[in-house]
Formats: sequence, structure tokens, C-alpha cells
Amino acid sequence: MTAIGQILDNRDFSEENLITLLKAEKEEGIELLQRAGEMKRRQVGNKVYFRGLIELSNVCEKDCLYCGIRRSNEKVLRYNLTDREVLDAAAFAYRERYGSVVIQSGEVTNRAFADRIERLIREIKQLSNDQLGITLSFGEQSAETYQRWFEAGAHRYLLRIESSNPQLYAKLHPQDSKHRFEDRIQALNLLKATGYQTGTGIMIGAPFQTYRDLANDLRFFQQFDTDMVGMGPFIAHDDTPFKGMAAEGLTLADRFNLSLKMVAILRLMMPDLNIAATTALQAIDPLGREKAVNAGANIIMPNITPGSYRNNYLLYNNKPCTDEEPEQCTGCLDARLALTDSEIGYGEWGDSPHFRSRKHS
Ligand code: SAH
Repeated sequence: MTAIGQILDNRDFSEENLITLLKAEKEEGIELLQRAGEMKRRQVGNKVYFRGLIELSNVCEKDCLYCGIRRSNEKVLRYNLTDREVLDAAAFAYRERYGSVVIQSGEVTNRAFADRIERLIREIKQLSNDQLGITLSFGEQSAETYQRWFEAGAHRYLLRIESSNPQLYAKLHPQDSKHRFEDRIQALNLLKATGYQTGTGIMIGAPFQTYRDLANDLRFFQQFDTDMVGMGPFIAHDDTPFKGMAAEGLTLADRFNLSLKMVAILRLMMPDLNIAATTALQAIDPLGREKAVNAGANIIMPNITPGSYRNNYLLYNNKPCTDEEPEQCTGCLDARLALTDSEIGYGEWGDSPHFRSRKHS
């Protein structure tokens, strides 16, 4: 039996064993991905659920050193979708029988923004006869705002921890009161307490990150008892302080392969989780998301932002599909998923089974 086979049979996910798994190469690497694919089919089946992604605005109060839409990037043309555009995108998702939408934007924390989102949530619920699931990804907000949006009908929230190591978190963000690790943790706890299915995640291969950090991020997901995870390769953006940088010694291809292994290991550690095959994977390999689905992911977020804005929500270089309209994405995804042995859960929410068991235990 191989070393990794033994670790997986014993389900011993110690920090050292996780590092061994993350470094699995060749046959062992393939074995890892295969076992994760099998685990997924056994535990959550072979369905992949769609979340139509609406990038509402790239206006952002934060200045995360890695992110292309950071406040200090003056080259970005800032935009805000109109309400009509957001509702049209949601209606498109409903018509196409995507079970849910994800609405994401830069971080804005004023009252007017909170009011607007609350209104949009109610209108999306209405236009879809209460059927579309709504996931939000608007960063750190007050307890009151989280509560209002939840009551309006949003039921999932994504907030990546970015790194569970406070020292690394500090290297990825400016050192000021708007970028505190403790606030991030506090926000995640608030989301859970409010009742959201809560998702978190990290970037893989970010500057200064080590294998040990990644091992501990996996342990953090387990400890936080997260319902969903979205994580993908770090890809430098030229107009950020991290231009040309990455974790030491990791090429783009290395970061891609490491991301697949992270997905696979997480599926084996937490079998009933919802795990996203993220867009950043596709930026490196056109079939990146399908490969992640084979390695244990079960969620795909097709971009349904109106085409003319997509070019301005560039978190990293080389973001795929920025010149397409939503209609073009649907066919493309269908065709390609058919290449994997997956089925698309049309018209279903596809909630995290983990959330269900967490609520009932
Ligand atoms: N404002 C929202 C959404 C931000 S963008 C929030 O704070 O949650 C969503 C994710 O994109 C971030 O959480 C980050 O992990 C990822 N991201 C940003 N820059 C990136 C880069 N250069 N490479 C890869 N992923 C990046």
C-alpha cells in the first residue's frame, strides 16, 4: 500500500500527514484525486449545482494587496450594475433553471448599500416565485446588516478567510483597522450565528504561503465546521503590489495542481461539504473547473454578469470569459460537463448536506 493510501485509510489528517498529501506526485497524486472523486460520488452523488454569479460592483473600500479591484488601483474603471441589470441577470438564471445566484461585489459598508441589497434580495425572491436560492458575497458587514439580508431571503454567504494564519493574513493585507484578522473571524462567526449556510476559503499559492499554512487552512475549515468552501489558485494581478509574485517556487501549473489536491483532500476530510470549482482554475486551464469536479468539487458558478461589465471585475490577470454574454456560457458549460460523468442539478438549490446535518445535530 502507498504512503498516501495508508493515511487515507486511517483518516489521520494530522498537520504532517496533510503536508505529505499536498506533496503527493505522479501515481500518488492521481490516487489522491481518484479517491476524492469516489468519495464525492458515494457521499453527495455525481450532481453538480450551478450558482449564477452576478458581479454587482467593483467599488471597494478595502485595499487587499493581492486583489485587482483594491481601492488603490486607480486604473480600474469602477462600475455599479443598475437594479434592472441585477434583476435581469437573476431572471436569466431562473429561466435557465440554475438553482441559485451568487451576488458578489467589492466591500461597501454604508447604509444605502445595505438598503439596496435588501431590496434586491426581496425582488429576486419575488421574480422567481421564491425559488431562486441566494448566496451573498459582500465581505465584512455589521451583525445588523447580515441579519437584514438573511430575513430578506438570502440563505448562504461566502467570506473567505484568505489565510487562517494571522501572520500570513497580515502579510496579505495592509496593516490598518480595516483589515484585521480578528474582524474576519468575528464576521464568519456572526454569519453562522445569523443562520446562513456559511462558506469560506483561501487562495492557493499566494505570496509567503507555505505547505504548512495550507495544511492548517484545511484544519481550519474542519474546525470552523464550514458548510461550503471556495478556493483556487492565486494569480497575480499586474496593478497590485503582488505583481509577478507567488508562493516561493510555485509556477502557475504548480498552483493549479496544488489547488486540485486541496479540493481532493478537503473532500476526503469533510465528505458532505459543498466545494466550488472556482473560476481561477479555469484561468489557468480551460478545463480547470471540470478537473476540479472530477477531484471532488460539486458546485460551479457560471458568470452571468452582463458582458459589458465583466472586463472591469478583474481580480487577477487572465480571468476567463470576460468578453462573453451569459447566454454563451450556458451551452459551453453543459457541453463540457458532459465530458465528466456528472449531471447538472437543474432547478435545485443543492444545499450543503453538511449544513443539514450541522443544524440537526
Ligand atoms: N468583497 C468580497 C468579494 C471579493 S473577491 C469579499 O471580500 O468576500 C472574491 C475572492 O477573490 C477573494 O476572497 C479572494 O480570495 C479572491 N481573489 C482576489 N484576488 C485574487 C488573485 N489575485 N488571485 C486569486 N484569487 C483572488
